[in-house]
Amino acid sequence: MDKIVQGKRILLTFDVEDWFQVENFKEYIPFSSWQTKELRVKSNTLQILDILDSITADIRATFFVLGWIAERCPDLVREIQKRGHEVASHGFNHHLCYNQSEDDLRYDLKKSKELLENITGEEIMGYRAPSFSITDNALRIIREVGFLYDSSYNSYEGHGRYGSFQLPKNQKPNQPLYTLSPLFYEIPVSNLRLGNKVIPWGGGGYFRLLPFFIYHAGVQRVLNQKNSFVFYMHPWEIDPEQPRVSEAKSFYRFRHYINIESAKRKLVKLIKCNDKKSFLTCRSFIASCGKS
Ligand SMILES: [Zn+2]
Repeated sequence: MDKIVQGKRILLTFDVEDWFQVENFKEYIPFSSWQTKELRVKSNTLQILDILDSITADIRATFFVLGWIAERCPDLVREIQKRGHEVASHGFNHHLCYNQSEDDLRYDLKKSKELLENITGEEIMGYRAPSFSITDNALRIIREVGFLYDSSYNSYEGHGRYGSFQLPKNQKPNQPLYTLSPLFYEIPVSNLRLGNKVIPWGGGGYFRLLPFFIYHAGVQRVLNQKNSFVFYMHPWEIDPEQPRVSEAKSFYRFRHYINIESAKRKLVKLIKCNDKKSFLTCRSFIASCGKS
């Protein structure tokens, strides 16, 4: 049962992948070598689950799990489910949507959805694209494969890898939820709007980079404007002990490692400072908006 939701809502979302799978390191760690790398995602994700359990507020979050990880760590997927959170898909092999042919993308999406459904015994409703690499074509395929929603739109245009999509004419811009077609929704990651400017505020490296009090003030501003805030993070972001990819360009290393030692503390703070608000899964959020 979805709980009755009043007031402001926070959607904590976690893209469950490991330190060697990120786009920034792809030219240094080829896909073919992934299986030789140390898997740290399990213990990092368990730490996040423990954090969510340790705070008195009733917290439900969404975990977009990469199929490649789910195949190796099915117990982790079951643990996420057992603790009351939503399991969703981050695709199978973490290839960017717009770099795949239609057939390859369809295959990747289906394979991840079916695997997660076999592990959880439940229908998997949501998808998040690697590096927010969404396109209109990709959205069409995501819907065709049977997902209820996508959460891959990041309105920040300064990143270079993020994709975009055409908003249907009957939808107002800057909404927390878009109806793309009957029974198919988009939950965009939150950003901060100042005048005409969009400032990346949804999480990840930007969350680690900014001092907490500034980040917190921005979150409150978004909550006041939209009544909801969609946050994203990766388990490797709370792992200062992960192997260093020293051959990567300094800009990529900066993005990946900036303030990685304080991110766990910041996540706890973010939750504690908002403990009077409702922490919902993406599915419950859609239901709370009167959709299903
Ligand atoms: Zn990812």
